[in-house]
Amino acid sequence: MSNSIRIICALWLLAAATAMAGPADRFANVEIKAQHVSGTVHMLEGAGGNIGASVGPDGTLIIDDQFAPLGDKIIAALDALGGERPKLILNTHYHGDHTGSNPQMGDTGTIISHDNVRVRLLDQEDFPRSGLPLVTYDDDVTVHFNDDTLVVLHLPNGHTDGDSVVWFKQANVIHMGDHFFKERFPFVDVAAGGSIDGFVANVERVIGLVPADIQVIPGHGTLSTLDELAATTAAVKSSSALIRERLAAGAASAEIAAEIDEAYPGWGSGFISAERWVQIVQADDAG
Ligand SMILES: [Zn+2]
Repeated sequence: MSNSIRIICALWLLAAATAMAGPADRFANVEIKAQHVSGTVHMLEGAGGNIGASVGPDGTLIIDDQFAPLGDKIIAALDALGGERPKLILNTHYHGDHTGSNPQMGDTGTIISHDNVRVRLLDQEDFPRSGLPLVTYDDDVTVHFNDDTLVVLHLPNGHTDGDSVVWFKQANVIHMGDHFFKERFPFVDVAAGGSIDGFVANVERVIGLVPADIQVIPGHGTLSTLDELAATTAAVKSSSALIRERLAAGAASAEIAAEIDEAYPGWGSGFISAERWVQIVQADDAG
């Protein structure tokens, strides 16, 4: 092999190694931070959707499991809380930032979800078999775990077509999944059966069901009160109504996005910018 070919090979290997390191590096410095919420319930934050955990005499149950490269860190965080590998894993919906560690968790635990979560995970090419929900439901289901009653409510056609929220009745805590992006514009996955009006109606139904002093784990954002959930939902409703009104008046989407940014300062600073929020409203109207 000539020197020049050796150099080219070395450069290619370096480039390939860098490309492979890219996605993993994104998670290399992620720390999983646990916060006690109430009773046996904890909230874990890392990267991706917030995790709800119950650690107690029946073992460990988790709600959502973030991204695949974080699986070991999540298990270590549960271990630090005195927990074991999760016996039960509830998925609030199918998105990869909530189900990424399913294949690892499903090796030793049972994954439970709405029917459509399993359907959408099966639609993904090469999704590992161990990551699929083994128990599914089409409406609501009750889980009895660690002396608590977990009411798992299916919310139809909101964030997606397969979402659930998990209400710990004794601990007085609810995990809202991605029906709650705290003080941010939400992602509404219209292509996966989501709808803005459905999203708002779903959250309003939940607010009417649960006690006023319940603690709320959002899909994204810090631990919240029911008032904070209501305020975020009101802003989802009013901002989408404003976008629709401006679209109907013939305003350009860039112009509307600028107006929305001004009317809702900071709300477009997360995963969904004001521009994306306008696009979601347009997609929702087209669908
Ligand atoms: Zn989501």
